[in-house]
Amino acid sequence: MGLKRVELAPGVYHLQGGSNMGLVVQDGRGLLVDSGLDKDAARRALRLAEEAGAELAAIFITHAHADHFGGAYLVQRRTAARLYAPALEGAMMEHPILEPLYLFGGAAPIGELRHKFTLAKPCRVDSTVEAGPQEMGSFQVEVVPLPGHSPNQMGLAVGEVLFCADALFPAATLAKHGIPFCSDLDAMLATLARLPEMEYAYFAPGHGPAYRSGAEIAAACAANRERLMEIRALIYDGLTGPRPTGELVRAVADHFGLRLAGATFYLLAQTTILAALASLERAGEVAATVEGNRLLWRRTAPQS
Ligand SMILES: [Zn+2]
Repeated sequence: MGLKRVELAPGVYHLQGGSNMGLVVQDGRGLLVDSGLDKDAARRALRLAEEAGAELAAIFITHAHADHFGGAYLVQRRTAARLYAPALEGAMMEHPILEPLYLFGGAAPIGELRHKFTLAKPCRVDSTVEAGPQEMGSFQVEVVPLPGHSPNQMGLAVGEVLFCADALFPAATLAKHGIPFCSDLDAMLATLARLPEMEYAYFAPGHGPAYRSGAEIAAACAANRERLMEIRALIYDGLTGPRPTGELVRAVADHFGLRLAGATFYLLAQTTILAALASLERAGEVAATVEGNRLLWRRTAPQS
């Protein structure tokens, strides 16, 4: 898949492909945001940087999903760019087995999960970043926390543009996949509530085209919030009696008319269902119990 280069501000590019990237060019130096899925994606980004006359000085990875950092090792092999990443996410980039490992419940993952979509090649994290304004390879940037989709996802603001990673998904993705990947539902809802209030002109996501400030980003965030709230409500409504996790995954997938094609898709969906259950548990609405050696979810709040 090719990369489409969209200039959102002078020298600030949104590279739109399967997984998007960002490229910032100033005075012959480049800053790359995310690296794409694999070496092919990274090569395309390096070519665009070269065409823009930039030598890569820095690369920032927003979160540790293989489709965002899988190409980073190649960037490190080809350039002297320093790699910046949020804490925890960075640990997973250095030890990418953690992604299939957590998807498979902590056990050594099955072969299917060892595919490049869930198991990336490792990269070296040179600096762990905290939130706030900072200098990154001579670029003045601001690191913006956007947790929820992954535990410590962070966006990168350059002037008027916020590279907002997978804080939200385009309507087409919501329609196709139904269940957006989510690690912490409450955190993701809070991020989606905050995002449209942030004073940037453009929000450049990890998938799909960029959004303008105002109505455009607000509507997109609202659609994502509604979908997550709907999933949370579906699960609560489905707990008319004690249910195992698998039944809840099925109920939500059926509701959206999804056919989960393979273990990887199933386990990704299951993570979001577990995130919703944890949100309900935090609110005191459901509890996990073990009965007859089965893990079952049940409502705790009295029905009115
Ligand atoms: Zn992601």
